[in-house]
Amino acid sequence: MASECEIRNWVAKAVEQTPVFDLHTHLYPASFEKLMLWGIDELLTYHYLIAETMRLTDVSYGDFWSMDKSRQAELIWQTLFIDHAPISEACRGVLTVLEKLGVDTSRRDLGKIRKFFAKQKPEKYVDTVFKLANCSAVVMTNDPLDPVERGYWESVSRIDDRFKTALRIDPVLLNWPKVADQLSELGYKAKGNLSGKTIAEVRRFLEDWIDRLDPLYVACSLPPTWRYPDKSFTTRVLDEAVLPIARERKLPFAIMVGVTRQVNPQLKLAGDAVGKSDIESVHRLCAGNPDNKFMCTMLARENTHELAVAARKHRNLLVFGCWWFLNNPSIIEEMTRMRMELLGESFVPQHSDARVLDQIIYKWSHSRQIIAKVMADKYVDLAAAGWKVTRQDIQRTAENFLSGTFTKFLER
Ligand SMILES: [Zn+2]
Repeated sequence: MASECEIRNWVAKAVEQTPVFDLHTHLYPASFEKLMLWGIDELLTYHYLIAETMRLTDVSYGDFWSMDKSRQAELIWQTLFIDHAPISEACRGVLTVLEKLGVDTSRRDLGKIRKFFAKQKPEKYVDTVFKLANCSAVVMTNDPLDPVERGYWESVSRIDDRFKTALRIDPVLLNWPKVADQLSELGYKAKGNLSGKTIAEVRRFLEDWIDRLDPLYVACSLPPTWRYPDKSFTTRVLDEAVLPIARERKLPFAIMVGVTRQVNPQLKLAGDAVGKSDIESVHRLCAGNPDNKFMCTMLARENTHELAVAARKHRNLLVFGCWWFLNNPSIIEEMTRMRMELLGESFVPQHSDARVLDQIIYKWSHSRQIIAKVMADKYVDLAAAGWKVTRQDIQRTAENFLSGTFTKFLER
């Protein structure tokens, strides 16, 4: 019989050494040039840190946004790391990244930290970061209606194989009638009231971009007011275009539900908040479309328990990640423990949601510690129940949590 100490060591090693397949990020490869965000100034101007800084500084929103990025980074460094202790999770993350990269922060000197990053070359830096994060692949968020991103898809021929694609379609589901103009400009005959050939043209748009991107899934972020089904254009486009094509192409449709956009528009990207969402809509979506596969994460802590219960009821639903405001150690631990108790190995504990490449270093370092802690407790409980725990069992569970549950769901 393995001892408790042995079990905890096995789990810690397995979780640390198993590469992760990060199923949702906002990252881009080096060939996407300015879309690839990396380095200390991008880390410091992450929207989480902007929101935290604006609580503590007298600088006006207008003055902040008129600064260039390096000035913004200096203000954030001064406010959150010098004038206050960087104890928030987002601040701690920056320090973990620097520590893992071997950058000395003992003098709290931003200039010195910047010198390290000035020496890095993007292509090689991607290798360094993937290695430190022990990450095998990341899934991007690819929006063909974004003109800058579309430009790259129309010109770049081959992309770094570690960067997988996901077709993000928020405007196509949520921005009617306005999105009709955008689709029309791209050569799809769309009308704002969905009349005539519009649905067929939306399908053609989706098929063209599935062909071009070869995505792992189709995705949309939805507000807490989202209901399914209802009489909205969102339901019609979903039922008549998105779900039939996702079915044909065997692609999961991923929903991230619960973001209330722009509760403070002055904060721009940092101005979104959380609202409680409707789990009944998730039930109806999964039950009403049994031949579709769904992935779901919800932003409100209040929704996370009922979402785990929903996954018990619908085999076509994969629950994933601790999203955004839930991505804090206390809540990650609570959610991971609860999900493990309700769902065993059949969920994906975490995704990074990284916008800045370097962030996968800290997001996976911090999350791995928590996943390992909860997993070890569960295996110790199994041993106490008389189950002969083996190292192979532990390795398999670690692989399922970090990649297997997701990749097997894609193949189903
Ligand atoms: Zn995201």
